Amino acid sequence: MNEVTMLIGGKDCPASSGATFERTNPVTGGVASRAPAATLADADAAVEAAAAFPAWSALRPTERRARLLKAADLMDARAGAFIECGMAETCAMANWYGFNVHLAANMLREAAAMTTQIDGSVIPTDTPDNLALAVRQPCGVVLGIAPWNAPVILGTRALAMPLACGNTVVLKASEACPAVHRMIGSVLHDAGLGDGVVNVVTNAPADAPAIVERLIAHPAVRRVNFTGSTHVGRIIAMHAAKHLKPALLELGGKAPVLVLDDADLDAAVEAIAFGAFFNQGQICMSTERVIAHRSVADALVGKLADKGRQLVADAPNARGAVLGAMVSEAAARRATALVDDARGHGATILGGGALSGAIMQPTIVDHVSLAMKLYAEESFAPVVTVLRVDSDDEAVQVANDSEFGLSAAVFSRDIARAMNVAKRVESGICYINGPTVHDEAQMPFGGVKGSGYGRFGSKASIAEFTDLRWITIQTGPRHYPI
Ligand code: NAD
Repeated sequence: MNEVTMLIGGKDCPASSGATFERTNPVTGGVASRAPAATLADADAAVEAAAAFPAWSALRPTERRARLLKAADLMDARAGAFIECGMAETCAMANWYGFNVHLAANMLREAAAMTTQIDGSVIPTDTPDNLALAVRQPCGVVLGIAPWNAPVILGTRALAMPLACGNTVVLKASEACPAVHRMIGSVLHDAGLGDGVVNVVTNAPADAPAIVERLIAHPAVRRVNFTGSTHVGRIIAMHAAKHLKPALLELGGKAPVLVLDDADLDAAVEAIAFGAFFNQGQICMSTERVIAHRSVADALVGKLADKGRQLVADAPNARGAVLGAMVSEAAARRATALVDDARGHGATILGGGALSGAIMQPTIVDHVSLAMKLYAEESFAPVVTVLRVDSDDEAVQVANDSEFGLSAAVFSRDIARAMNVAKRVESGICYINGPTVHDEAQMPFGGVKGSGYGRFGSKASIAEFTDLRWITIQTGPRHYPI
């Protein structure tokens, strides 16, 4: 069992009230972690600890780079501990947490490289003897709120670029993985970033609304980033707007794969199965909708059902398991209810669907129609729907008939045709002949529509976590009209 503390001002802290909450293992039902249930005063203390250490922003960029690189190496070195802890808290497979550590460490390396890329510009001015500059500066304290489903990646992503830009940070850990998120704090602290540069707050699930509102409202918090559902993202956006704080929102998805009639079906099936079922479909980029040309749909569904049968879900360390458990029994029940609703409205269910506690087998829901909840709702489960269309135009229209717009994919042997389709799909990310699930630290990651706004990763994220200032120097006499 993991006994978790908060990280505030470089110190291991219990809640000021002494209260704790427990995270139970979704398969065994045993206690995986016990963590402090922060009070509002603890939330304030974490922000104030972050605000009290401007020394981080004053460090030479190459020094910030060196410390972030050290953190990346430390993260890699602790991969075993992250995997063990992740499997206990959220019950995905070891390879998922291993990949999490690999990508999160690379996010730290990529952020480290950015410390010397935060440049400005000299702007032509009409004012004689005047030098006009655009200068990027750190904003202050950045609040990061991360979910449990890719716990190491998303917890690290919430902090890496804000830190590279010279800000200090508060991570509000997910209630489902407090120990993994706290370990990210330890990695950064042990890499010598400095007391108060990184703070981690843990809270009981029932306290989340009040703690989050308090953190956003604190005057020292200057930027917010949130990764989670579209429902909570709207709440975060409203708090941020009330306090006039820019927010980066990475929200839900319902990624489509458009399979055109000239696609390599075997390649499409491999990509769809991976995208739909890896990590039990609990990835914001998970393939939730296959939109297939009618002429190839039956063959595609047959191959996908064969593939799905090979992907057995079980407890993560059970023999023969390819997929692990879902985050909770409640999540599996919700997904099963969505499948039952579709069946009730005439869908054909292929493959697994069998449910035991938090374990759900890969499920293909064919002949999905508008009347079914699964047409529009994110399942966040190993469930993929299939819709049939008669043209590229109809495929694009169906793909865009969604509140979400995060990831998408197009399969076709004709690259120009695929590119023309990809350009019309409303999503932040689109892969041609690749799975909807794919991320690299240096890429601009983010969505459109109900999937949020702002970009993590790449130089684009510098703008998210710096203030752009106009600074001038008068180098000669100035003329005034009065
Ligand atoms: P969630 O939105 O339910 O919860 C996220 C966090 O929000 C929680 O840990 C909680 O502390 C906080 N919260 C809950 N209720 C709140 C309230 N009323 N006010 C303020 N804060 C509140 O999301 P989740 O279940 O943890 O994660 C799954 C969701 O995240 C899915 O929708 C998934 O698509 C999305 N996601 C998006 C990305 C991305 O990059 N776009 C990545 C991963 C996950």
